[in-house]
Amino acid sequence: MTERHAIAVIGAGLVGVCCALSLRRDGHDVTLIEPNEVGSGASYGNAGLMSSGGCVPVGTPGLIWKVPRMLVGRAGPLAIRWSYLPRIAPWLWRLVRASSPDRVERISIALAQLLERAQPAYRELLSREDYHALIQARGLLFPYKTEASFEGSSWARDLRRRRGVRFQVLEKAELQQLEPALSSEHRKGVYFPDARHTVDPQKLAQSLAGAFVEEQGQILLAGVDSISIDRDDRPSLETTAGRRRFGKVVVAAGAWSRRLARMCGARVPLDTERGYHAMLPDPRVQLRVPIISGDHSIALTPMTDGLRVSGTVEFGGLKASANFAIAERMVGFAEQLLPGLRRDGCRAWLGFRPSLPDSMPVIGPAPRTDNVLMAFGHGHLGVTYAAVTGQLIADLVARRPPAIDLTPYSASRFQGARG
Ligand SMILES: Cc1cc2nc3c(=O)[nH]c(=O)nc-3n(C[C@H](O)[C@H](O)[C@H](O)COP(=O)(O)OP(=O)(O)OC[C@H]3O[C@@H](n4cnc5c(N)ncnc54)[C@H](O)[C@@H]3O)c2cc1C
Repeated sequence: MTERHAIAVIGAGLVGVCCALSLRRDGHDVTLIEPNEVGSGASYGNAGLMSSGGCVPVGTPGLIWKVPRMLVGRAGPLAIRWSYLPRIAPWLWRLVRASSPDRVERISIALAQLLERAQPAYRELLSREDYHALIQARGLLFPYKTEASFEGSSWARDLRRRRGVRFQVLEKAELQQLEPALSSEHRKGVYFPDARHTVDPQKLAQSLAGAFVEEQGQILLAGVDSISIDRDDRPSLETTAGRRRFGKVVVAAGAWSRRLARMCGARVPLDTERGYHAMLPDPRVQLRVPIISGDHSIALTPMTDGLRVSGTVEFGGLKASANFAIAERMVGFAEQLLPGLRRDGCRAWLGFRPSLPDSMPVIGPAPRTDNVLMAFGHGHLGVTYAAVTGQLIADLVARRPPAIDLTPYSASRFQGARG
């Protein structure tokens, strides 16, 4: 048994919930603090993919030449609120700097280490019944309409090959056999057999939170306004339910973590890559396999409540209103991909990916004290990496040697950041 601490976890998205449950299972007194419903942030509306190929960062070589074209093209996978450009420009510059071949190689090695432990970590956290009810092992398919779009992703395939990710390249006939619902326009495909997906991301978070409460974890319905470090090096939280002192605090507030991290001495360039989904409750098309279109960069995921079409990166911060025309456009692309798709009853949603420009999360102690730990910035891969993040945070609190070297995830990699 490790030394027992009173620990607050700030934020009940998938990352916070996984941290809270892992810490509780180590015997700590854990309070999960969240002002909203569990799993109602980015963890609610994502594509639910637990990617087995998730070791490719957003920034890859040549990005600097592609971004301007993607931003200007209205139908592309990138959008920007131009008034936000001055705010996001330093982040974009860091993204470009993280896109050099040698940085990408190092980032992908670090991400692959998380990836290797991602699924086993979910198996440990979830009961057998919940795992089988919520996570399906059908793989993930990237279809391409043209040789050119297929060739355009060869760099990412080579990178994945170097990381030992299993995938198969499919020709037209094999593609149709694997996914008959797909339009016959597609000529090539890449299939990742080890990928999994959750059929209900919010339920996944809520099941984990349910286990946490059953195992005597506490949930406090409140927001955290500030963190301070007392003279004895213990953190205190000013919450909407009053002031509380803890032995340790975990900051897992997703895209809202930047301000809290700064209060503990960590200046991190966390911003949000806003993303949309459209939920089609009665799509009339049954997908056998989740899909990410290699041409339109949208994900199509079969879920309990219908087919989820999701994607887009929009730079616009946390406050700008939603532009649901983007979600409409994604449904248009989905109709091209899946002939016969019905959009009746479609519901659109906007969410906030918590993103760092090098595509790696921050997992580790705050600079000012190791009584505050940080677990945020999972960007496009928070569903995939939430459970392993919880385990690593629990290792740090227990002073067990973590299963992987956490140096790449340190907040200090951004020294000099304005935050
Ligand atoms: C469209 C879209 C598709 C995606 N698809 C995938 C995918 O297929 N696979 C994948 O792996 N990832 C995907 N992601 C990314 C993934 O959803 C996120 O990385 C992940 O959900 C982040 O989890 P989180 O717990 O860090 O943040 P969140 O789920 O956003 O949770 C943060 C929580 O902190 C709370 N909070 C904020 N401030 C405070 C405060 N001051 N006090 C207390 N609580 C606070 C919020 O209310 C919120 O509940 C996608 C994201 C989007 C938007």
